Amino acid sequence: MLVKYVGHAGFLVESSGLKVALDPWIEGNPSAAKGNVGMDVLEGVDYALVTHSHGDHGLVEAIEASKRWGTEVVGVFELANHAQSEGAKAIGANVGGPVSLRGAEVVLTQALHSSSLGVPVGFVVSTGEVTFYHAGDTGVFPGMALLGELYRPEVAMLPIGGHYTMGPREAAKAVELLGAGKVVPMHYGTFPVLRGTPAELRAALRDRGIEAEVVEFEPGEEGEI
Ligand code: ZN
Repeated sequence: MLVKYVGHAGFLVESSGLKVALDPWIEGNPSAAKGNVGMDVLEGVDYALVTHSHGDHGLVEAIEASKRWGTEVVGVFELANHAQSEGAKAIGANVGGPVSLRGAEVVLTQALHSSSLGVPVGFVVSTGEVTFYHAGDTGVFPGMALLGELYRPEVAMLPIGGHYTMGPREAAKAVELLGAGKVVPMHYGTFPVLRGTPAELRAALRDRGIEAEVVEFEPGEEGEI
């Protein structure tokens, strides 16, 4: 899978001919600004997956991309309804089983967080080439073991900043529960309060005896995983 880090919790992923964005917060995102990532990065995106309504997760950008380029917004039912009411094409779903998106399957997962539009979610995305998990904003929860057992994600994008989400210690436990071989840290460093670091995640993984690889991206950076 080809990954481009928008910054904060935002990613673009290209795999098996499909281009998806996850939580593509751009306007006012200090991390995206640092990486010179602008709205044009969303041109040609097939689906924009948005985990919850908080302003740092890109619902506004997903709606804008839909209006400009026909991107479909994917999220929990109430969030998708809101996107539609704002003029976007949207697919509303809920926590449970797979949603089919042109060759890919997406499962909305539990997330321990808050949202003003429905419930917050994470996404497990299987493209045929790869299965990855974007946790959204969440604390660690035992059901991650079930996600690992059912979907076997090879790559996990996990928040590590603390304060609003998991910190490094909790994220290391999440990696253990998920059984993912690669972890991409996110939701850290954007604001001073999000103080967990990839180095702390590596140390926490070592402490638990977990050999997963931490794949770190700078905002704006692109790479194959
Ligand atoms: Zn949030």
